[in-house]
Amino acid sequence: MKPVVTNIWSKVLYHREMGWDQRLEGLDASFLPASVVVLESTVAPQSLYVGSNGTSLAVNLSGLELNMPPGRIRVFDGLIREVEVLPGTGSIPVRVQLVHPAAYNLHTLPGIPVRTVMVLERAAIARTLQGRLIALDPAHGGSEAGARGPINLLEKDIVLDIAMRLKRFIERDGGRVVLTRESDMDTPMCDRLKLLTEARPDCICIIHTGHGAAGVYGGVRTTYGRTCGSEGLAVCLQTEIVGKLALKDRGVRPMGPVPYRLPCPIVSVETVCIRHPLEEALLRSPDFKNRMSQAMCNGLVAYLSRLGGGGDGREV
Ligand SMILES: [Zn+2]
Repeated sequence: MKPVVTNIWSKVLYHREMGWDQRLEGLDASFLPASVVVLESTVAPQSLYVGSNGTSLAVNLSGLELNMPPGRIRVFDGLIREVEVLPGTGSIPVRVQLVHPAAYNLHTLPGIPVRTVMVLERAAIARTLQGRLIALDPAHGGSEAGARGPINLLEKDIVLDIAMRLKRFIERDGGRVVLTRESDMDTPMCDRLKLLTEARPDCICIIHTGHGAAGVYGGVRTTYGRTCGSEGLAVCLQTEIVGKLALKDRGVRPMGPVPYRLPCPIVSVETVCIRHPLEEALLRSPDFKNRMSQAMCNGLVAYLSRLGGGGDGREV
């Protein structure tokens, strides 16, 4: 059989009950949660070389050829930014770019195909989120539908869907979440602000879709409040969303005045525009909503990691 690499993929593994992948049976699960990069080949590589330079890992698989064009895979899972497969003769050089240094190990799982699995610990993300409380505010709700798409998609439904997905991502990596609403209900602004204040979160993220006001379509924008740290939080979210989804960057800017004293940084993310036919279609896609939520989670982690230390572990 021709010794070739046939497939490369990446995934986050939490534990055997959540996010496990049958293709990885035989892998030691004691290190989870972890990000994995899997290289599938017809035969096992003759030898493996791994080198680390902080946030860049180099892996060389000798005795194999590539059965696909070399190129980059955008991962953006909070730990791995991208995997780049370089051209090579008689061996395949692979570079894995990380957000921060991480412990790693390599496994080879026999079978058809043979799977060479690079396992990277996500412990730093869990440490960052430990004891942190993040408040999510899916805008609108109940009788207030927000903007409406050309094929009747409602903003209130989409932002709640994204918030619930984001909640799962944050909780999977060890953080806690408080939501202003978990169903399609009327939530007056004063109730939202009271809840957001009393919960004493570490940061607040409001979620809207773009409205297409003044004919502006396309891309993502994040606005920030006046509380200290809000602009930094907005930049982190915007950077991760634009990076992961390759969307047009509409930038960050101050939001209008918030009629309440808030205890922590506050931002509002406007995902793509619901009034644009193509972007409305994006907002219907579960894959897009998952990637958007993961990117927002990455942005929150990036911001909290700058603060250093975990939260104080207080209860809601
Ligand atoms: Zn809105």
